Amino acid sequence: MAVFDDSMKMDVLKDLIAFKTVNGHEKEAADYLVDLLGRYGISARLLDVHDDRCNLVAEIGEGSPVLGFTGHLDVVDPGDVSLWKSDPFALTESDGVLFGRGVADMKAGLAAFVIALIELKAAGLPKFGRIRLLVTFGEEIGEEGSELVASSGLMDDVDGLVVGEPTGFNIAYSQKGSMDVKFSSVGKAAHSSMPQLGFNAIDPLMNLLTKANRSFRDDGEKMDSMGPLIFNVTTIKGGTQVNSLPDSAEAEANIRTVPEFDNAKVRETLKKLVDRYNEEGAHLSYDIFMDQEPVASTKDNRLVKIAQELMKPYVKGETHYLNDLFKDMPKTLQMAKNGDMLIVVSPGVTDASNLVKDKPADYPFIVAGPGNLSQHAPNEYLDKQMYFDFIDIYQKMAVNFLQK
Ligand SMILES: [Zn+2]
Repeated sequence: MAVFDDSMKMDVLKDLIAFKTVNGHEKEAADYLVDLLGRYGISARLLDVHDDRCNLVAEIGEGSPVLGFTGHLDVVDPGDVSLWKSDPFALTESDGVLFGRGVADMKAGLAAFVIALIELKAAGLPKFGRIRLLVTFGEEIGEEGSELVASSGLMDDVDGLVVGEPTGFNIAYSQKGSMDVKFSSVGKAAHSSMPQLGFNAIDPLMNLLTKANRSFRDDGEKMDSMGPLIFNVTTIKGGTQVNSLPDSAEAEANIRTVPEFDNAKVRETLKKLVDRYNEEGAHLSYDIFMDQEPVASTKDNRLVKIAQELMKPYVKGETHYLNDLFKDMPKTLQMAKNGDMLIVVSPGVTDASNLVKDKPADYPFIVAGPGNLSQHAPNEYLDKQMYFDFIDIYQKMAVNFLQK
């Protein structure tokens, strides 16, 4: 007997969407979940509470093994609200499709975990082992929540982890790392007609960025386990006036790392590049202000196999719903159809970069959750049936994984 009927499932999602957890305010939503879980006899506790932010942990079952379910409470800013056809914080349904900020990334995934936990508990499951729900804050910027979860030891005894980020019915088993770096160049201002009296801060920066583009892209091409290393200069600024030599210039770059060209190798390459231009007279420095390692498991880890088998019956026909609002959106992530789900490398970083650290090479780890490519875009949407499906899928996944 299911504890939640469809309208109750919708209510949970609607309530979660209504909390404006835009890079903050997660505590209100976490309090709501403590209350909801408590009503069904599951005690949840808040962790790392500060300001209006916190993590949450809840658990059902006894002993080992332990399966982890994880999702984040924060969402990205809805941006220009005039581009939305409905209020981003009011769950709206049209023709079997749900709209709202975070409906795909990833409040539906989170709601599915919570309801799955409640239904399992009510059915006297799991028979063996435990399921630990780890709900984090601040995933979208900095991943501070999952860093605190990992450092408090809550992942130490977890034998497998499911991240409910939106993949549709695809299954990701690894993800690239990510690094943000800021380059600064110092010069000396002078009239542009007398450059010998000053030093142009833009020149060495420009040379460095051109060289970095070339060498990261050339060397990064050959990688094969997760595809190429990706290097992009993403911001640049410098100078104040067209007839003055600039006395400062700055640029930022984002780098997506892979096991064969990992964060350590990037750090080494950056140092060499900057040292080289400084030896030639530049005054360049750099600061790596975000540094997440790639997470690699094997394509046939135990959770991939379990998920692949039990998700098959849910994948019917064309599952990737594209309405007129999304007709121009490329289907670059080919979505699963007719029982064929793709086993993929997640292009984006998730909380797994903190949670799946120092685990064995074949550690059971997947990213699989309700969603599509509309995350972070206006009119973010989700096929309603997919939300319901994942509530079942997560329950079956847990029972399968926690067999004796
Ligand atoms: Zn997300």
